[in-house]
Amino acid sequence: MRVFPISKQFRVFAFAFAFLPLPIAPFSYNIPVPPACNNSKLFLSSNNIRNIVRVSNTSASPFKMSLGAWRCHGATNREMVEKLAEARIIKSPQVKEAFLKVDRSNFLVVDTSTTSRRDTVAEAPYMDAPQPIGCGQTISAPHMHAYALEEILPTLIKFSTSDDSAAGEGTRTSPTSTNNNKEGELRILDVGCGSGYLTTVLGRMVDRSITNKGRGPIPPLHPGSVYGIEVVDALVTLSRNNILKENKDLFDSDTVTVIKADGWKGLPKYAPYHAIHVGAAAETCPMDLMMQLHPNGGIMVIPVGPNGGMQDLYRIERIRDNEVYEETDFDVLALLGVRYVPLVHSDL
Ligand code: SAH
Repeated sequence: MRVFPISKQFRVFAFAFAFLPLPIAPFSYNIPVPPACNNSKLFLSSNNIRNIVRVSNTSASPFKMSLGAWRCHGATNREMVEKLAEARIIKSPQVKEAFLKVDRSNFLVVDTSTTSRRDTVAEAPYMDAPQPIGCGQTISAPHMHAYALEEILPTLIKFSTSDDSAAGEGTRTSPTSTNNNKEGELRILDVGCGSGYLTTVLGRMVDRSITNKGRGPIPPLHPGSVYGIEVVDALVTLSRNNILKENKDLFDSDTVTVIKADGWKGLPKYAPYHAIHVGAAAETCPMDLMMQLHPNGGIMVIPVGPNGGMQDLYRIERIRDNEVYEETDFDVLALLGVRYVPLVHSDL
């Protein structure tokens, strides 16, 4: 039976809405986009993924998100974050605190060679819009980052309050895992880290250098590791340099690591992951990534859909441990219509 949680009319509306206020052309690529892989044994098609949807409650309402989205501009980082909170896109203290700690202006390429509007740092970095980061890629709009983090947060809280976060859990699904994380730590994979911004915000949420005591009244998450992976050399460097500007301590404490790797294959070395965020649209759902989720409820937020066409953001939860891939081992929920740059195939 085909079950889909969002009406077709809404999806068309959300998709159209997503295009309206784009201040820049966000989709010019200089990465070759190879033909879609049609090996059905390896890749779950986006049609198939809809067939296995089992509706569960989601913490966020896509409709509410759309109403506030694109309007959360600020003159400062704090103002941008406050606007996201007012629009109820940022809902939790954990996500808000992490956003406040990471100044988005450190992750944008500011062209000072011209006098265009985008030179005005106070204007561009805190605009609720995607921005160019070079190599034909873009940093996503703040509301998309916030939305993705709010989707991921309940899972991080769940693993922080249960024994399941122990690193040994789920290792048999990941034979190449080195499991060198300390027991009880959270592991997060950010695929397509680009500017390094979201990787850094995630790092602030699980910062190893902050003790539970130092976290004050906000319910603490376990400390952990965030692995940002990126396929373009220049963006791996950009990411690292951006993080070094004001967030070097996240490297020093081994909270954040940036690695050149192909998102289609993930990073099995450090799997299983409690959460995976994918920042580029996969035309089919990468099964390798699904199998790197923690088997006791690891969650992935991923856009799936054709390059330049109708894409949906999905929340995929791994609900059963199984050595081999079975569709029924995953709960899949479509969240909202989106438009992302493509997750490219590479020879890595
Ligand atoms: N989330 C980031 C970047 C989003 S743009 C940010 O907000 O800054 C998408 C990124 O995915 C780009 O940097 C692109 O180079 C990267 N990407 C595309 N295909 C990839 C792949 N197969 N593996 C890893 N990264 C990939």
